[in-house]
Amino acid sequence: MMSNENRMTIDGAEVAFQPGETVLEVARRQGAFVPTLCYDERLDPYGSCRLCVVEVEGRRLPASSCTLKAESGMEIRTGSDPIRKMQSTLMEMVLSENPDDECPRCRDIGTCEVHDLAEKLEVGRERFLGAISNASKDDSNPFLLRDYDRCISCYRCVRICDEVEADHAITMTGRGWNKGIATAFDGGLMDSDCTLCGQCIYTCPTGALADKKMVGQGEIPGEVEVTRSVCPYCGTGCSINLHSRDGKMIGVTPVLDGPVNEGALCVKGQFGFDFVNSGDRLTRPLIRKNGELTPVSWDEAFDYTAQKLMSVRADHGPKAFYAIASGRAPGEGSYMLQKFTRAVMNSNQVDNCSRG
Ligand code: SF4
Ligand code: SF4
Repeated sequence: MMSNENRMTIDGAEVAFQPGETVLEVARRQGAFVPTLCYDERLDPYGSCRLCVVEVEGRRLPASSCTLKAESGMEIRTGSDPIRKMQSTLMEMVLSENPDDECPRCRDIGTCEVHDLAEKLEVGRERFLGAISNASKDDSNPFLLRDYDRCISCYRCVRICDEVEADHAITMTGRGWNKGIATAFDGGLMDSDCTLCGQCIYTCPTGALADKKMVGQGEIPGEVEVTRSVCPYCGTGCSINLHSRDGKMIGVTPVLDGPVNEGALCVKGQFGFDFVNSGDRLTRPLIRKNGELTPVSWDEAFDYTAQKLMSVRADHGPKAFYAIASGRAPGEGSYMLQKFTRAVMNSNQVDNCSRG
């Protein structure tokens, strides 16, 4: 007979779990639809939005599954009518905190957990409409759109700033109707310890926090396309998602399962992408001819460069050649440069700008 140890039932199916796992983790692994808003897998469970409620056999009241540890023999129901009704009502209350239906994330960025969930649960904001809190709008920084009128008090921004970034730049403030997010002494974000890492805007499930550069790009036609890539800024190799519309890059977000950065990015990687769209960017090789930089083919550029390098070596010897690899280049590129320096130019003068 199969042991009951570390086994439980989710929606009638018997499943195994690892000690320490939460009911939410086990249920989602089973493919159950369990909505959440205050949950981010990188953060400690918080249990404030209550959307992840499930029925637990033998308990009178539903429990939030993100804070409930899986136990042997548990029987869980995730999608009964009373549970869906409770979740729908909670979503309606969350939506009623929004000042309007015009969400900058939905419109321009294409990722908004609140409105995605509202669509799934088929609810709107009309039923509980009332006064809307008038939160402070400190927007005086170059990258983070901060519109706390849309805040739903999930505190994912504060928690990620503390638990993941260890910056402690923002905190919860006020109570009840006056609750909000603030920096120390309620100063401006640029006067706080914020490093503009962008983690808070990435985790925020609403339009309260968003990437200023991405907001407003909704006028470009077409859907947002997301392409996984590697940040070109330094040799660390952080995984990024490039967001584009109609072939134009509109922003960058971190890849959560990136093997190097695990969802983190620095300010350059997160917000420094728009050099790609610069009109000054070189898109083909140029050779100065009669004093004018003139576009040429790659073949002509390679021939010209090879001939110049060989004449430097012939006229001044191998030590006249000194190569510096870019910290932005991949490892393979750096390897090729040192090989070229040693084997072709016969010089041992090779270095990397990341050194020292
Ligand atoms: S700003 Fe966004 S992440 Fe922060 S508490 Fe409000 S809704 Fe949550
Ligand atoms: S950008 Fe980074 S450091 Fe600044 S408040 Fe957000 S999470 Fe904290």
